[in-house]
Amino acid sequence: MPKLPLPAGPVDSEQNQAILVEQFRALRKQVPLMYAMMFVDSAFLAFAAYGTVSPWWSLGMPAALALLSAVRATFWLQRRSFTPRPENIPHYLRGTVIVSMLLSLGFGGWGLLLYAEGDLIRRACIALYIFIGAISCCYCLQAVPRAGQAVLLFGAMPVTICLVFSDDWFLRGLGANILLVALVVLRILRTNHAGFVEVLTSRSDMAAEQLRALGAEQRAHDLAYHDPLTGLPNRRALAEALERRLSPQGDGAPLGLLIIDLDRFKSINDVHGHPAGDQLLRDVAARLDAVVGVSGTSYRLGGDEFAVIVGGDVEGARRTAHAIVHAMHKPFSGPELVHHIGASVGISLYPQDALDLDTLMRRADIALYKAKHLGRGQHCAFEPMLDAEIRRRAEIEREMREAMNRDAFVPHYQPIVDLRSGAVVGYELLARWARGDGAEIGPELFIPIAEECGLIDTLMLRLLRRACRETREWEVPIAINVSPTQLKDPWFSQKLLGVLIRERFPARLLTIEITENALIVDAESAQEAIESLRNQGVQLALDDFGTGYSSLQHLQMLPFDRLKIDRSFVTSMDRDPQALKLILAIIALATTLELPVVAEGIESPAIAETLARLGCAMGQGYLYGHPMCAADIEATRDASAA
Ligand code: C2E
Ligand code: CA
Ligand code: CA
Repeated sequence: MPKLPLPAGPVDSEQNQAILVEQFRALRKQVPLMYAMMFVDSAFLAFAAYGTVSPWWSLGMPAALALLSAVRATFWLQRRSFTPRPENIPHYLRGTVIVSMLLSLGFGGWGLLLYAEGDLIRRACIALYIFIGAISCCYCLQAVPRAGQAVLLFGAMPVTICLVFSDDWFLRGLGANILLVALVVLRILRTNHAGFVEVLTSRSDMAAEQLRALGAEQRAHDLAYHDPLTGLPNRRALAEALERRLSPQGDGAPLGLLIIDLDRFKSINDVHGHPAGDQLLRDVAARLDAVVGVSGTSYRLGGDEFAVIVGGDVEGARRTAHAIVHAMHKPFSGPELVHHIGASVGISLYPQDALDLDTLMRRADIALYKAKHLGRGQHCAFEPMLDAEIRRRAEIEREMREAMNRDAFVPHYQPIVDLRSGAVVGYELLARWARGDGAEIGPELFIPIAEECGLIDTLMLRLLRRACRETREWEVPIAINVSPTQLKDPWFSQKLLGVLIRERFPARLLTIEITENALIVDAESAQEAIESLRNQGVQLALDDFGTGYSSLQHLQMLPFDRLKIDRSFVTSMDRDPQALKLILAIIALATTLELPVVAEGIESPAIAETLARLGCAMGQGYLYGHPMCAADIEATRDASAA
């Protein structure tokens, strides 16, 4: 069996499949026409030969061949609107080559017989009939060159060979001519087929290229709109989604924007490393997506910040926020560790809170800020009051920066006295803001803002420098308050000691007051900072004891030199039995640990007396003096000395 002109390479390659399909389609189009032409050709030949040969050969043979051709033509006509699967097409092509061979043999044999019976002119005519018919078939079978070759070889060659070997020079010449033309036709067929394959190949190459370009475009889009770590849509996707929904062309349906910030994520990243942090973020994203479900869409804005858009009113948004807070509160179990984090959520609503993207985002941020201030694991919806509060804080921050440059922060000193003798044993430095506009802004308000915007460090060092200069002559201990955020700074102790050295202030006269919060935020760095200060002789007090955790563990964590009972218990101890009980417990605890106790907020002699009786060593409060500037303190010192 002749080898088929199948495309090179495996049939399953997309390109080869496309070529097979095109071959099939071309055949389907040309083959019925070819059979019609063969039918006409052989009818004429039969008619011309009628009477010169036996009816078997002039009628029977062409009738049989015509019947076969009709069957084959019908076969192709039936496949006019049907294309078989590419893997089945080779069977059709193979069938075409075989049928071409058989029919050509039939026609060729019949032609040979008529040729043998004819005289010179008829022989020439028969040869031309057969050859022209064969060439026409060849053209119709262009899509399958082997079939065309079979037609020329088996259909036209027998008669042509007879021509070449005949004893008449006309016929020989005709035979030679036919041979030449046949060769040219074969060559043309081959070239045409190669062109056909090439066109198809480049067409399918182009399609593949287009597909690749489309894929690349899709990937670029995915990268631009998705967070690669968690797979969630990113900030850009959120902005565009909101812009679409808030635009005049949007559906105008109410929606809630939730901004979610993880609590305690940073410390996990710092302590357990980035791979653990990354895994945790992936788990958070998955949990967030599961909680939000079909009611909204989750986004990762960056870092440990996520967002969710939910449809509907404030109640729906609050419900989702609550579910998120609840879900994030549950532990996340990693391969080795279980992480406990949490989340705070801020909510803003369209259209109540904002009509445009920027305001909606800003207001959700404000609500988040508030949620964080309420304590971790809270959710909070935006209220216009919050906006005013934030503006006010921003205003204070701006004013504070200016005030720092003008040295408008002034250290005030509140005496700390020995409760038994009433002698001043030290002063606590408390910051005051000399605003000059009459508006009182106390440290309870500006210190947290300074902590938040990173001003606290500079503020405190400036106050300390000034205090060193102002109190050097007094030669009494000074206590300063240190914020939890300062203790996280690895250079904190160096900075502080640097001031003491430059100002030639003895370290033993300085006490730093820290709250339990500082130990909660970052015990390790607090311990490091404090140890190097203690080595230089700086004293350490635990401030506001009783308000927070009041844990023995915290007391033992660092070598405290004294313990300060928060003023809220002291001011109310004569009315509130609970406050008194707590004070008794604290004093008992401090006595066991051999820690002197300082009571803050003493306003009456009765309270001072009770505290002294209970074993409290020192006290401070309005009874002994308000916080005062250095000049006022000096005046009182002079008066008492006189
Ligand atoms: P604190 O360290 O507990 O300071 C004691 C606070 O109690 C001071 O408030 C003081 O004015 C007030 N106080 C003193 N005696 C009495 C009294 O007899 N009755 C009442 N009701 N209050 C009394 P102040 O000065 O407003 O400071 C508030 C807080 O601000 C301080 O609490 C401290 O935590 C913080 N703070 C003040 N100055 C600084 C500073 O320079 N750095 C840092 N980090 N925090 C500071
Ligand atoms: Ca204090
Ligand atoms: Ca205090």
